[in-house]
Amino acid sequence: MHIVYYCRHCKAFLGSLDSSRVSLDALGFTSLTEQEISDIIEYHAEDQTTYVKTVCEYCETALEQNPALYLTSSPIQ
Ligand SMILES: [Zn+2]
Repeated sequence: MHIVYYCRHCKAFLGSLDSSRVSLDALGFTSLTEQEISDIIEYHAEDQTTYVKTVCEYCETALEQNPALYLTSSPIQ
């Protein structure tokens, strides 16, 4: 399985990993609800890639400084 991490806000590519055996446990998502998991993980069957939406350092800093940005789904167009 190919896993790609990208920023949910600016869509920056953050990294990827390949593994034949990756479980949600290994990724540290066990504490999330199913709803949260389906919100941050997208599986694309056609290229067998799992996309994980996260937040990059740049956006994390920006959001810390201006939490109001959390109210909009994509502050950076
Ligand atoms: Zn970002």
